[in-house]
Amino acid sequence: MNVLISGASIAGPVLAYWLNRRGFDVTVVERAPELRKTGGHAIDLIGPAMAISDQMGVRDRVHARATGTERLVAYRVGATRPAHLDYHKVTAALSHQHVEIMRDDLSEIYYDAGRNAVEYLFGDHITGIDDNGQVRFAHAGTRRFDIVVGADGLHSGVRRLVFGEDAGHTEFLGAYLSVVSVPKAFARDGESTGFFDVGRTAMIYTADHLDDARAVFIFRPNSAYQYDHRDTAGHQRLLQERFTGMAAPVDRWLAEVDRTEVDHKKAFYFDAITQLQLTSWSRGRVTLVGDAGYCPGPAVGGSTSLAVIGAYVLAGELERAGGNYAAAFRAYQDVMRQPVIGARALAKGMAKGILPSSPLGVRALIGVGQLISLLPKPVTSALAGLNDKGIRLYDSIPIPDYPVSVGPRD
Ligand SMILES: Cc1cc2nc3c(=O)[nH]c(=O)nc-3n(C[C@H](O)[C@H](O)[C@H](O)COP(=O)(O)OP(=O)(O)OC[C@H]3O[C@@H](n4cnc5c(N)ncnc54)[C@H](O)[C@@H]3O)c2cc1C
Repeated sequence: MNVLISGASIAGPVLAYWLNRRGFDVTVVERAPELRKTGGHAIDLIGPAMAISDQMGVRDRVHARATGTERLVAYRVGATRPAHLDYHKVTAALSHQHVEIMRDDLSEIYYDAGRNAVEYLFGDHITGIDDNGQVRFAHAGTRRFDIVVGADGLHSGVRRLVFGEDAGHTEFLGAYLSVVSVPKAFARDGESTGFFDVGRTAMIYTADHLDDARAVFIFRPNSAYQYDHRDTAGHQRLLQERFTGMAAPVDRWLAEVDRTEVDHKKAFYFDAITQLQLTSWSRGRVTLVGDAGYCPGPAVGGSTSLAVIGAYVLAGELERAGGNYAAAFRAYQDVMRQPVIGARALAKGMAKGILPSSPLGVRALIGVGQLISLLPKPVTSALAGLNDKGIRLYDSIPIPDYPVSVGPRD
């Protein structure tokens, strides 16, 4: 059977790898002209997603590319001295297996794992999908596929084509997220610096192998904001208004926003933290995977790990059903339903938790980090382990075993 996947970031290459190993013919179409290597951000790969990476034989490469953040220096706006937090202990609360890595690096690692046996069409996208599997591309003409999978992210083109415009499928979680590429000298290797205030947080980090640093801003707007995801100038204005004057280093980071337009390698990212709420993410021979189908909210719900798990499960169920896509899509949805519901709840809690609404809340947020940093790691892990529907959600997700019965196609 031949499968077309739209999107070559995280979910796409993981799905392509597993489908190929299970004997499917795989084509991936990616809108960008090449694997996207700029504008990425640090993501957390946790629990079962690390176990799946292990089965793909890429665990060592993932560890080798980890950002290496060890400390978080946390400034509470108005306080005279920062708090020094142990980043390893804070993240140990998330999972017994956790790696922080840049999205672009992870994407490249997964892509490399399967690229030789998969057809990649860069610089193209799908413009139409018929019920019988005829797919029209912007450039590559028309081809027929047995199955089409949208792995093309929160603003998925496949989802729009098959399920219609997003109205009714999304919930704004009340906050915006922005990432700005800034000079590497603004940050220190191994250390992340953060400024915390009521309703706004600004952080900076870099990694040994990066030639820049990334400033990340998460915030609630002061007043209702009419969001249009194509209005970059409006996003930049809102960001400047909300953060100017927060702290002198933050003003320096913001000054870089204007330079991102001149130098395309200095990426500027801005999006509303939005949760997708499709109750079913398959229709006919088309299904969705990762953020395209069930993004719990960027940066707040472990969506990368969910994308990896979803891709692995979908490939496993397709082989188990012998290519009967209707049965496979039902089983895929059954396996993913609880993890998706859990991730949605986690994301809503995190979106509130990381942006306290009072000065006392800001104090408490940093205080919890300080307490975790003081406790021995096994104690933090044991305490976090008691909360397997919240912070330890991912470690508690059971991953089915899908034996590979058919050999890979080359
Ligand atoms: C700033 C930021 C911080 C984040 N931090 C975290 C974190 O700490 N932990 C975490 O787990 N997750 C985090 N995330 C979320 C994480 O990046 C995503 O969940 C993850 O990348 C999902 O992967 P995906 O493959 O489903 O989609 P995406 O990574 O969004 O990839 C979609 C791909 O499809 C391509 N594409 C788009 N449209 C089309 C089209 N029409 N045709 C063809 N190709 C198309 C895109 O170019 C892209 O390559 C963060 C996200 C952001 C933005």
